[in-house]
Amino acid sequence: MVKPDGVERGLVGEIIKRFELKGYQLLAIQLFKPTREHLQEHYKDLKEKPFFPPLIEYMLSGPVVGMVWQGREMVKVGRRMLGETNPLNSNPGTIRGDFCIETGRNLCHGSDSVESAEREIALWFPSGVIQWERTKIQKLIYE
Ligand code: GDP
Ligand code: MG
Repeated sequence: MVKPDGVERGLVGEIIKRFELKGYQLLAIQLFKPTREHLQEHYKDLKEKPFFPPLIEYMLSGPVVGMVWQGREMVKVGRRMLGETNPLNSNPGTIRGDFCIETGRNLCHGSDSVESAEREIALWFPSGVIQWERTKIQKLIYE
């Protein structure tokens, strides 16, 4: 997901581009203006954290772009492409390492496990994603 700071700063295309160029496949994408309740559900595992209230306000500050990407080791590699939670600990070449400074304005969200990806996909895209076959390019990306 591209968070409100990423959308407002015009980084949606840059973030999509990185996943496309890597070879991952887009299965769903939408601009959302989620409710507080929706965001509280999305981040429910963090509700006891001291930063939960400012996190929810941050996420309510503008629209977000939700996406579903598919490919080998998608969750693990996707998280690596995002960088560390704290952008100052993120390597150059990662999204957070290249484009932001503060944990509370870290541009993007990525599911941290296959289980949480399944939960988050069901929450954001309840009517499902588009399962589509790539033909020629699949053989150029995978052995
Ligand atoms: P992520 O999986 O790397 O996004 O990190 P978490 O799931 O631990 O936290 C969710 C989001 O909460 C992060 O991406 C940050 O936007 C925010 N967050 C996490 N830790 C902190 C913190 O210590 N301070 C603040 N202000 N925000 C935090
Ligand atoms: Mg997380």
